[in-house]
Amino acid sequence: MHPTLSHPLRAACAALLALPPMTAQDQPGYTDTPQLPGQPWRVHDAERPRPPAVDPGPAPAPAPVPADAVVLFDGTSLDAFQRQGGGEARWTLIPADAPRAGAMEVARGGGSIETKQPFGDCQLHVEWRAPAPPHGDSQGRGNSGVFLMGRYEVQVLDSYENPTYADGQAAAIYGQKPPDVNACRPPGEWQSYDIFFTAPRFADGELVSSAYLTVVHNGVLVQNHVALLGSTAHRTLPSYTPHPPQGPIVLQDHGDPVRFRNIWVRPLPAPPAQ
Ligand code: MG
Repeated sequence: MHPTLSHPLRAACAALLALPPMTAQDQPGYTDTPQLPGQPWRVHDAERPRPPAVDPGPAPAPAPVPADAVVLFDGTSLDAFQRQGGGEARWTLIPADAPRAGAMEVARGGGSIETKQPFGDCQLHVEWRAPAPPHGDSQGRGNSGVFLMGRYEVQVLDSYENPTYADGQAAAIYGQKPPDVNACRPPGEWQSYDIFFTAPRFADGELVSSAYLTVVHNGVLVQNHVALLGSTAHRTLPSYTPHPPQGPIVLQDHGDPVRFRNIWVRPLPAPPAQ
């Protein structure tokens, strides 16, 4: 800075320079993060276009459960889950009379929870509901997440009229790819994810094939067989670390009282070798 600048101006410039790299509220995101490989965007890029909103229609009743599904949560018990890393799952159980309509809610201090049973390739159905009335903005509004194998996050966020960086909104593969459209319902309404996951393959400690995700949000296809760049990361490049062929499904405690209900999974046979 030029030494002859007046004191107030110098103070103003210094204050600007001291601002965190998160940009203004109407364009949240970052400008100092690494470039995503194969994409013109940075991780959580403030300039990355936000997907257009698509009204998915009214929320349906809890979806039916296929006969061969493993029921992870039917509204009556948290028994299929534990606190991530071990210990009792301490989210709040909210019973209901209708089948599969009971919910669990992220409890203050409860921590993230994970399935006791590990899964690899799978079809996963999850219903979730952002708090109403909404509280906070951007990443601070209705934030949770569904992590496949405890590593690969499909973002849960109240993205209804709540701008945030595109790769961090609801149904984004967090930090990697925004959904193709924003199919969020308003806070307080039930929403669904149908997730089709192919686990990554490793051999001799090396990645042989990437993980793939297809995500249907409220009946709308928003991620179509997308190759993942690695484990979910915040503000840094995702990368792969070899891990076992199965891992837990994790529901994230991000400090917001998001609710979940009617969660089931269908383990899938491994695809034929290429
Ligand atoms: Mg999250």
